[in-house]
Amino acid sequence: MGSIAPPLQVAVVGGGIIGVMTAIGLRRRGINAIIYERASTWHEVSAGFAFTGAAREWMEMIDPALVELLSSMSGKSDASTSNAYWNGFHPRTNEEAEDESKSLLFRTPTNNLSFWGCVRSQFLKGMAAMLPEEASIFGKQLAGYDEVNDKVILHFDDGSTAEADVLLGCDGIHSATRKVMLAGESRAGFSHTATYRTMVPIDVGIKALGQKVAKNACNHLGPNADLLCYPVMSMTLLNIAVFAYEDSEFPDPDRMTVQVDRSEIAKVFQGFSPQIADIWKLYPEKVVKWGIFDLEDNPPSTYARGRACLVGDAAHASTPYMGVGACTGVEDALVICTLLESVQQKALAGEELKEALGEALQTYSGARLERGRWIHHHSRQMGQMYHWRYGPTGRDPQRMKQKLEENWGKVVTYDVLAPLQPELRALARSHRK
Ligand code: FAD
Repeated sequence: MGSIAPPLQVAVVGGGIIGVMTAIGLRRRGINAIIYERASTWHEVSAGFAFTGAAREWMEMIDPALVELLSSMSGKSDASTSNAYWNGFHPRTNEEAEDESKSLLFRTPTNNLSFWGCVRSQFLKGMAAMLPEEASIFGKQLAGYDEVNDKVILHFDDGSTAEADVLLGCDGIHSATRKVMLAGESRAGFSHTATYRTMVPIDVGIKALGQKVAKNACNHLGPNADLLCYPVMSMTLLNIAVFAYEDSEFPDPDRMTVQVDRSEIAKVFQGFSPQIADIWKLYPEKVVKWGIFDLEDNPPSTYARGRACLVGDAAHASTPYMGVGACTGVEDALVICTLLESVQQKALAGEELKEALGEALQTYSGARLERGRWIHHHSRQMGQMYHWRYGPTGRDPQRMKQKLEENWGKVVTYDVLAPLQPELRALARSHRK
């Protein structure tokens, strides 16, 4: 038993951003990836999010068409050479709030950060259109899996099953794959922060917050809360996210969302500068509040066991304060696509599949575990810093800037392929345009 004729059969559990991207990468490499998604169709929120320049380089190695897609829907701007951090608390007038000499805390050059923003739901749909119809099966919620005769058998909550050579758990923060793989040893916890997101036409955003928000990402910092905004959709919309510290536990930890009145946002920014204090007016009366959960308190001890492994948020769900959760998932996707391509090549050459696969999944875990942990740890730290709750930086703009640049540096200069053997690195690079 053990050696099979390719293509390798890969079950991707979860059709979110990272599951779909991974499936695209695998199919490009001639691997038969099937997505099993619990929802009845593609679903994502209409909120903005962004990929760094470094993530785009890794994405290009997964499939250059992904970068082309992102480019076609991004608010990328040559003017966006820095992220600006403003004092959202002390200014008492709009003039003062927009006056760089008085209220700009610091700027950080974006360098290879150079975020390209897009609307999540659009990007997901665009990626899904790159897959053949038979590559995704909806209404399939993974309940468990086991390994029988060198196969993974997936069990879904509708009683059906599916079989594959490998299972990639791309099933997000409350990953069922992780639960089974690690027998519940690792689980997501509340970061004691929450977010309220909206998007408005760019002119509405400019009227509320000033011309400064039209081109650059602007974050307005203050005690226990910050307001981040950046243009998306080719500069036509302003993505706005309020992030706030929460002392109490989140009311519904499984759903992670709760509907609230927009007056809650007004309370978050009580005492802040007038523009920030009034931001609640740009929200609809009822808003969704998202509890922010991560794996910082209970991280997985491994990302792979047997024939299963964890990819994306399932492995390293992070708070959004460094804005690179999905970017880190892109890194995972490249590494697992490369390793599985190499397994498939070995199987073609007549090598024993079982051994090659086991080794590849352990290499994946070894290559990704430390990076994933670093990301969720430092992302939490950044959130505390933005909320003026992080002791080492306090409210000091210079210390904040230094800390931020140190972390950004590690985000974008990290060589994802370094832990791999030279031939695997070359294999990964061979898929670039
Ligand atoms: P998910 O997006 O959670 O997808 C998981 C999928 O699995 C879903 O479709 C779900 O329905 C499905 N699923 C779950 N359980 C099962 C099951 N048992 N069986 C079958 N299917 C299942 N990252 C960035 O890089 N840049 C940003 O600008 C950025 N901004 C962010 C802003 C906010 C406010 C937040 C909260 C996060 C942000 N992130 C950002 C992080 C990013 O959103 C996540 O890292 C990314 O969405 C993870 O993608 P994923 O595919 O791993 O998981």
